[in-house]
Amino acid sequence: MAAVPNDTKILEYQMFIAGEWVDAEDGAVSEVVDPSTDTTIARVPKATVGDAERAVRAAREAFDHGPWPRLNAVERGALLRAAADRIRERADELARLESMQMGKLYSEAIVDMGDTAHTFDYYAGLVQDSGGETLNVPGETMSMVVREPVGVTVGITPWNYPMLMAAWKAAPSLAAGNVMILKPASVSPLTNLELAKIFEEVGLPEGVFQVITGSGGEIGDYLAGHADVDMVAFTGSVEVGKHIMRKGADNVKKVGLELGGKSPNIVFADADFEAAIDGALVGIFAGTGEVCSAGSRLIVERAIYDRFVGELVSRAMAIKVGPALDEDSEMGPLVSQQQLDTVEKYVRIGREEGAKLATGGRRLEGRGFYYEPTIFVDVDNKMRVAQEEIFGPVLVVIPFDDEKQAVEIANDTIYGLAGAVWTKDVTKAMRVVKALRAGITWVNTYHPTYSEAPWGGYKQSGIGRELGTYGLDEYTEVKQINIDLTDAPMGVYQRGKEKNVAGSRRVVPLSDRRPFREGENKADESWVQFCENCKPGM
Ligand code: NAD
Repeated sequence: MAAVPNDTKILEYQMFIAGEWVDAEDGAVSEVVDPSTDTTIARVPKATVGDAERAVRAAREAFDHGPWPRLNAVERGALLRAAADRIRERADELARLESMQMGKLYSEAIVDMGDTAHTFDYYAGLVQDSGGETLNVPGETMSMVVREPVGVTVGITPWNYPMLMAAWKAAPSLAAGNVMILKPASVSPLTNLELAKIFEEVGLPEGVFQVITGSGGEIGDYLAGHADVDMVAFTGSVEVGKHIMRKGADNVKKVGLELGGKSPNIVFADADFEAAIDGALVGIFAGTGEVCSAGSRLIVERAIYDRFVGELVSRAMAIKVGPALDEDSEMGPLVSQQQLDTVEKYVRIGREEGAKLATGGRRLEGRGFYYEPTIFVDVDNKMRVAQEEIFGPVLVVIPFDDEKQAVEIANDTIYGLAGAVWTKDVTKAMRVVKALRAGITWVNTYHPTYSEAPWGGYKQSGIGRELGTYGLDEYTEVKQINIDLTDAPMGVYQRGKEKNVAGSRRVVPLSDRRPFREGENKADESWVQFCENCKPGM
């Protein structure tokens, strides 16, 4: 297990544009702060629009003329696998850096590094297995479908899973033959810069993977609206997601959106009590609640409500909050002062709305952005604390009387990212899961997910899916290829001949066909065969 670092040296980073490590063109930098200690740990370039433009030019060149899209899937897969191996070799160091830059517990960050490596391995393999299809079409035509890369893709990512979110985008994008410019969240770019080093080491061609560090409002915005960018894959808040969609509309670029959530975690009275308590705690307090799919609305059947809430509150009070790299910590700090302010604001709102604070509700004294595990009980689903994403360790608990009401409460939200149900009754579990308007669901567990399974939301939680075969498809264009097998001219504009009927081959019914006759010349074969009874103008 990693120890808490004690050296205070500030790391100096450059960003990776056009195959070079560079500063911002005007030399501006921004600081990365360790939320566990509220101290600066690194400085990174604060890119200008000019830097972003250079990255787009390099990406365009790499896609339009470079080797990457022209390599075969086996060759691209080999490089992605080499990167995955390197991530595994450096997992401990990368996990520590992840913890330091955004406050995630080391025990969680090290799992992320394994998942990140696996995502690259998975897409390296999947792309080798993926092909097109041939279609059964009428006439002497062979019709097939092939998938091709979209082109220059931009990944814009949040701070809660910096490496994993980068992998969910870069792995399918690069595997499919695209190039990618990654714009990480300003507060947590360090591991993504390390990822660029890994890709450079394993020999990815220039301009294929670039990391640009800077403000979302300026650099992210510029890239999202750029006419030479073919696709933006965005993970973040609903508000910024809507903005990206509007910007993308200017050149009708492909947009993938993975947005927020306010996910229901439904506990029936017949659930395994201990497992459900554990699942409720993991659902909200893992990752300090800064998880898009967090089970932030706990919906509990009234028959066990008091006992469940009592046990839940006492277990939450026992959670040890502390530095991300301290191995005794069970929950780390929030990512930033800004996020701490947001959580404090919502707890104030909850109190004003009349929600009953059962535990927590305070920031912890001292340096770092720590907040107590917080639970509001007897909450009405109409309250703002039940409707708006807080993105912190704040749980609202809502009672229900029957299955129908549980589903109504669960679906009464603008979001549709995730949801879970706890019960020993398998048919009830399936009924409820089917009724949930959400893209990711669990029965008798919370949070586990896999590179092989599609990730994404219904309603305002997003558009499209990451991961699985669905995630690869998002990064491809679909092309149909139709090949005439007759060698005959179409003959549409050959005046004076009866066969000059546009589209005639398509409309002649099978019953009108007859075998070739001796003496018919080859150029006429297709006509004779398919359109014997056609009349001009048909
Ligand atoms: P955010 O929307 O503030 O920022 C996300 C990214 O967008 C950052 O890189 C930011 O710099 C950039 N950005 C900000 N303004 C921009 C603009 N005008 N144009 C272009 N880019 C801009 O989100 P956040 O605070 O970093 O992350 C938290 C949010 O992310 C939560 O809502 C959470 O639910 C969501 N999230 C969703 C998923 C998912 O898979 N659905 C996963 C993780 C996080």
